[in-house]
Amino acid sequence: EKKFSSGITREELGRNGWTLLHMISATLPVEFDEKFTFKINVFLNLFGQFYPCKECAGHFLNMTTILPYEGNSRVDFMQYLCMLHNEVNQRLNKTLFNCSIVHERWGGDCGCSSKLEESIKKYSK
Ligand code: FAD
Repeated sequence: EKKFSSGITREELGRNGWTLLHMISATLPVEFDEKFTFKINVFLNLFGQFYPCKECAGHFLNMTTILPYEGNSRVDFMQYLCMLHNEVNQRLNKTLFNCSIVHERWGGDCGCSSKLEESIKKYSK
């Protein structure tokens, strides 16, 4: 089992990493424009560059570069991410996830306040 010196395993990091990614996808705007799609790809690229498991990051950057996201909606991006995650599942000989139930697994409101949305806009680049 691969462990960082913090005691965190690659698997734990992975579960948390996927949780973050899928939760982000489930809370995107319902529909968005090309500029936003571009931003998503920048985010995926930076996520890959900063991901602590560098071997994982290399695969992830490879996948997202060969197959960048090209859609324009939350539902569509959730499917894209499900497909990316399944690529990793396949490589690790894990059971493939049924992407038709991805919304049941990750969708829905987190119950968090949306009061900060104005400041998100203010600081967005
Ligand atoms: P995980 O794969 O972590 O999944 C967590 C939960 O997500 C599952 O219980 C299930 O409910 C749900 N889920 C599973 N598949 C999907 C899907 N396709 N779509 C939506 N939801 C799904 N590990 C390596 O050893 N080598 C790598 O190269 C590697 N690359 C990674 C790249 C990234 C970007 C990330 C975030 C993780 C990577 N990992 C890698 C870790 C690996 O993918 C797993 O997270 C880890 O092995 C733990 O697996 P798990 O079986 O607990 O479930």
